[in-house]
Parts: sequence; structure tokens; C-alpha cells
Amino acid sequence: MSLLTRMGKFFADRKEKQNYDRYIVLCSNCFSDQGLRLDAERIGEAGDGVCPNCGDKSGRKLTKKRAATLAHRFFVWGTLQKCEYGAAPLVQFNEQRQSSIKTAPWFQKDIELISKTLTIGFFYYGPRLWMVGEVEPLNALQEDQSRQAIIQRILDEYPSVFLDENQLFYRIRKDPNLPADKAEYDTPPSAFIGTGRLDSADLPVMYGSQDLEVCVHECRVTAEDELYVATLSPTRSLKLLDLSYLLSEEHVTEFESLDMAVHMLFLAGKHSYDICRDIAKAVHAAGYDGVIYSSYFSLLRTGTMPFETAYGISHRRFPQMREYEQAKSIPNFALFGHPIAEQKVVVRCINKLILSHVNYAFHFGPVGV
Ligand SMILES: [Zn+2]
Repeated sequence: MSLLTRMGKFFADRKEKQNYDRYIVLCSNCFSDQGLRLDAERIGEAGDGVCPNCGDKSGRKLTKKRAATLAHRFFVWGTLQKCEYGAAPLVQFNEQRQSSIKTAPWFQKDIELISKTLTIGFFYYGPRLWMVGEVEPLNALQEDQSRQAIIQRILDEYPSVFLDENQLFYRIRKDPNLPADKAEYDTPPSAFIGTGRLDSADLPVMYGSQDLEVCVHECRVTAEDELYVATLSPTRSLKLLDLSYLLSEEHVTEFESLDMAVHMLFLAGKHSYDICRDIAKAVHAAGYDGVIYSSYFSLLRTGTMPFETAYGISHRRFPQMREYEQAKSIPNFALFGHPIAEQKVVVRCINKLILSHVNYAFHFGPVGV
């Protein structure tokens, strides 16, 4: 390529980048599928102009950049399949491929329109196996004979943090017998122990969080419940193992990553509880007062997509994405034993909690893919 051609390409690329988020190319009224229209209304911006595609004035306007955000939210995030551990989208798109996905017939025109406007193709995505839980330390945790070795690594590699007397956290109770009695907010009696993520018959656990919304989610409350919230703080510095921490692991792929294993473990459902309980027992035996872990409801709370990738690589592995990825996790506390009875934690006050407004946010995806 001659210098002149290279310069020409450089300026053309730069112009393309500038135009990417400047000119309106589509609007929310361009689409026939209702879910896609509603998603486009949220992603698009208000504007007086006429849509260059459909000629309508009232739709929310999309630049190429916004149209690409819409395509990702609807077709990639919207086809995310949860597995036992991990999750992967069924569909991806890029500029190299022709559209080859089959969907219900009412999406066909919309897919053609987005493909043509962004010069992209939608195709079935063959996920990298780590995305669907093929992570060595996670596999090892699922086998009895290799579980303890990985738990030892967790103890060695995750940081300790201290929860001191100035830190407040919350604990919610549904329908307690004596709402004003501080003991009601301690770890439940033994008859109710052994059903949660980290508690077991031999290790009672008190759950709490500094994020009140997550406490409400974790309690699976309904509008009929009488709810009370205790504000708690430690009476001395408590030593916790922080499993919500994003480990920086150099020279390790996702397949070998302990960070990915623990991340997937705490985003998994009830089938993962056995492993989590064994981790809790080991952390307790190592002299800790409890653990910090990512709430299962973190993603719902932050409205973020799980297991995001770029070119098949987890965002968790990019140093520049670290802060963003860490912010997706809402930490919960699990304190061992009966912290109130043992005077490790004090109830500062108790309030009645009234659910006044529940706001659901959602987005859409295709069917028939
Ligand atoms: Zn339009």
C-alpha cells in the first residue's frame, strides 16, 4: 500500500469513526418487532429530524453507535443462555459474516435492516468452552477428591479484609415474632439452618449486606410480608475473606482461572451450595469471622450482563475493565456462628421496612433462534 493510499485510508477511517455517533441512521419506528421498538426507544434519543430510513418524525433516533448497542442488547444479551455454571449468547454479529440466523418470521425485516445499516451479519455463536463452565478449578471443586486442594488455593489467594466498628450493615427479617427484640436478628435457630448458600448444620451463618436493596432481594420478599430491618455494626474488627474480589491472574487463561471459577460459583443456583458450604467451613477453620461474597442478585441490582467478553476473552481479564467488572458485584456478608449472641456484632437500631415502590427494568430478545 502506497503512503498516499495509507493516508487516504487513515482519514477515511477517522471520518467513519466520527460519523459513527453523529448521524442518525434509524429510529425506533423503523422496526416491526415490538420488543425491538421498545428497546430502541430506550437506547435512542429524542430529536426533531426526519428518520432517513422510514421518514417518520416521532421515533427515538439512532446513530450507528446506538444501533450497534441495540443489536448487542437484543440479539446477543437477549439470547444469553444460562448453563449450570456460566452463560453464553446463542447469537453474535460482526462485520465479516453474512446474517445466517433463523428466527420467527416477524424479525426477518428488522434483521435485514440492521445488517444493511451497520454492514454486519448475525450468526450462531459457538461459545468458547470456559463460558459454559469448563474452567479447571471449577471442575476440580465439583469433584470430592480435588475440592480441598482448590479450597486451599482460595484461602491462599483471596485477600483478607477487616470490617471495623464504624461500618454499618443491614439484616432484614420477614414476620419476626418480636420485631423490637434484637435477638430476632441474629443467626436463625438451628431448625432453619442448612438451606442457604453458605450455612450448614455444623456452621450457622448470619447473612447481611451494606446494600439494602440486595437484602430485600435475598429475602425473596413479597408485598404481603411484614418486614423489619436491623442496622448492625461490629463491636471489634472482624476478619473476613473477600471472595467478591477480582483476582488479577497473569499468564493464566480463563480455562485455568481461579477468579472465573469463584465468580461462576457465586452466580450459580442451588446446585452450587454444597461447594460454597465447604468453602465456608474451611474459611471458618482458618480462623476467619466470615466471608464477603458476590450476591447472586448482583446483576439484577446493577442491571449488567454476566460474563461479558470481547473476542471471546472475558472482560474480567482486561486491566482497563477491572473497575467496571468489580462494580458489577454487590458484596454480601456471611458471618459465622451467632454474632449477636457472641457479642461480635451489635444491633444499633431496628426499623420497620415498607415496600413502597418496585421498579422492574427489562429488555427484550428474539424468539425462535
Ligand atoms: Zn425510522
